[in-house]
Amino acid sequence: MTTEDFRPEKEATTFYPPQRILMGPGPSDTHPRVLAAMARPTLGHLDPVFSEMMDEMKGLLRYSFQTKNMMTFSVSGPGSVGMEMCFVNMIVPGDKVVVCRNGVFGGRMIENVERHGGTAVVVDDDWGKPVDPQKVEDALKQNPDAKILAFVHAETSTGALSDAKTLCEIARRYDCMTIADTVTSLAGSPIYVDEWGIDAIYSGSQKCLSCPPGLSPVSFSERVTDLVKNRQDKVHSWFMDLNQLLGYWGSSTRTYHHTAPTNALYALHESLLMLSEEGLEHSWARHERNHQALKAGFATMGINYLVEEQYRLPQLNSVFIPEGVDEKEVRRRLLDDYSLEIGAGLGAFAGKVWRFGLMGTSSKVENVLFCLNALETVLSDMGMNLERGAAASAAHRYYADNPMS
Ligand SMILES: *Cc1c(COP(=O)(O)O)cnc(C)c1O
Repeated sequence: MTTEDFRPEKEATTFYPPQRILMGPGPSDTHPRVLAAMARPTLGHLDPVFSEMMDEMKGLLRYSFQTKNMMTFSVSGPGSVGMEMCFVNMIVPGDKVVVCRNGVFGGRMIENVERHGGTAVVVDDDWGKPVDPQKVEDALKQNPDAKILAFVHAETSTGALSDAKTLCEIARRYDCMTIADTVTSLAGSPIYVDEWGIDAIYSGSQKCLSCPPGLSPVSFSERVTDLVKNRQDKVHSWFMDLNQLLGYWGSSTRTYHHTAPTNALYALHESLLMLSEEGLEHSWARHERNHQALKAGFATMGINYLVEEQYRLPQLNSVFIPEGVDEKEVRRRLLDDYSLEIGAGLGAFAGKVWRFGLMGTSSKVENVLFCLNALETVLSDMGMNLERGAAASAAHRYYADNPMS
């Protein structure tokens, strides 16, 4: 044997990804400014210049979460690591946690609770419905020893938005701390961490922040950091232990914890800067306006929404697939012929709904019009009787009647 015997059979070449338009459940398109930021020189992660950038980023994150929490930073890992970080730090084995499940991600929260030695009290709601606050209140009444309430603000699997403010109010009344999943809501829907009293919150870089995947913005209240500081047992994860990270993110004299993914953090910094330039309210309104225009276009094709109007996420449009349509073929044609990615349904909705993301940079007028034209053409070509151009016209009309203030 020589080293040559271990070469791959197919000769590797430089990878050039095609330019897609990402309108699925995430990732969304990365803004060119953010991509450019990533390509800048790598710095040592304890370099004072890098530390300055990180401090600035913490400030930008506090703005995007609307919080003054000291412990606001980004976890080096995707949204799922942010999720696990909340649970592993806050659950002491034996703790009872009320978990709301109205889609895929609530199910993952239950997994987290159980793997970290907690007991999950599950509050189930149908997929496509928001979390029912009355059911949560009943569960807390019946379980006065519950320590934490965990819920998903924006269920990406269905496109339903839950009332985080009310859920947090209820938790407070029963002396419960809260864990909120805002992976898909941050920058797309209003979030007020301090005003609503969310104790632990996590998000992701690749949904409405227009960043590549791999980072998870998080924020913890003082109640959480006190709890973790005063734990009798060691947190059951070395990497995610908040006590260890306090020395890195919590102080100005940074000591080595792990090598921060410097270039990925330049990207997040740039995307948060863009969000602060745009302004949160403007970003929320932009997501809403593009959603309404897309909806107007869908209506011309008889395409209806899964979620009731008042609970719909503007950034994640789950719609029923028209009857008799080969939905896989539609998605294949959109990808192959239009380089447009949309999402399939999950669980019970596999084959029944499509999920159209309008997240971050992807939430823009030209994407809405392009997507409606592409879908209308593909469906017409596959035999549906549609008036060509009607969908985009309806969207145009919505835009004309509802200018961005
Ligand atoms: C995408 C998503 C996650 C997981 O994030 P990853 O970055 O894929 O690990 C968690 N919760 C919700 C609601 C999401 O949409």
